[in-house]
Amino acid sequence: MGTGGRSFATIRRLVPVALFALATGALGAQAAPLPRVHVIATGGTISNLGAAGRRTGEELVAAIPPLRNLARVTVEQFANVASGSVTETMWRGIARRIAELQAGADAPVGYVITHGTDTMEETAYFLSLTVGGCTPVIVTGAMRQADAVGADGPANLLNSVRVAVSPGARGRGTMVLMNDEIFAARDVTKSNTTRLNAFTSPDAGVLGLADPDVIVWHRTAPEGGTTCRRATFDVATLGDFPRVDVVLAHIGADSVFIEAAVAAGARGLVVGGVGRGGSTPAQSRALQRARQRGVVIATSNRTGSGRVGTGPVSRLDSLPAGAGADVGSAELNPQKARILLMLALAAKYRPADIARLFEVR
Ligand code: GLU
Repeated sequence: MGTGGRSFATIRRLVPVALFALATGALGAQAAPLPRVHVIATGGTISNLGAAGRRTGEELVAAIPPLRNLARVTVEQFANVASGSVTETMWRGIARRIAELQAGADAPVGYVITHGTDTMEETAYFLSLTVGGCTPVIVTGAMRQADAVGADGPANLLNSVRVAVSPGARGRGTMVLMNDEIFAARDVTKSNTTRLNAFTSPDAGVLGLADPDVIVWHRTAPEGGTTCRRATFDVATLGDFPRVDVVLAHIGADSVFIEAAVAAGARGLVVGGVGRGGSTPAQSRALQRARQRGVVIATSNRTGSGRVGTGPVSRLDSLPAGAGADVGSAELNPQKARILLMLALAAKYRPADIARLFEVR
């Protein structure tokens, strides 16, 4: 009895010691280190304080305490601009920076790019074509300014890091996260000027959701996320980007903008066509002249959703790189079709290959 009582007392004394040891990691295995997520901050409404300037990426991350339990977040300030000021040179820089970090020691498990929402879909689509590997890239921002009541930036940033560390994100390439919704870069577009739910994927729907308890995926990752994708284009070896312009079709549109684009040296033209890609007779004649001068015309549409096909690609097969031709932009809206055409021309693709490339989902 007496011995049992002493043992019980001993256990009672030891329990707090063991709990303290467990809490401090002195007993048993150390907790696994948190995965590294790298934030590349570029500016946008998520950082905008109006007359008071802009928050840095470090400040955005520091203001979200739950991030500390989720990931080891490192931050670099790539730029701090409205997204209308983002340039193609900056796109190349971000793609190269990610490749550099991926090749280094302590490579992150995911990247989060903070970006203005106005051109976010373009940057995301460019990165989806130029960043390879299994490591996800999440592009996010905010519809409401950083100091606004009900600012959405912190939740978007937190959810982006949640997606970046989620095993289900591997192999999915570049995505956009806004308003708890995850979109594939190819499919997403900003379809409202102001609302929190401004981002949509009109043809393909959301890729997944950042729900409070779990990240939900509505589509399976290519190869189940086990195969790392090769980048479609290697920015390290691509030549200069050629000029590619966008012209809109509408009643009364004449040939002026098309002729001006060709005179300015455009090697590609994207038509935001009516319906399935139509234009006015004056525009059609100007496009024919442009084609004869070696310009590749990618026909998109101004409807906001739906495909424009190329027709039989075989008729383009005999055309060499540098020949003028017509291709359909599939579901790509004009601003995204411009990016793919620009990259394909920079890579010296033949028209038939450009047509096929537009159909790769
Ligand atoms: N929505 C704008 C953008 O896309 C915000 C501009 C700003 O931050 O000043 O960048």
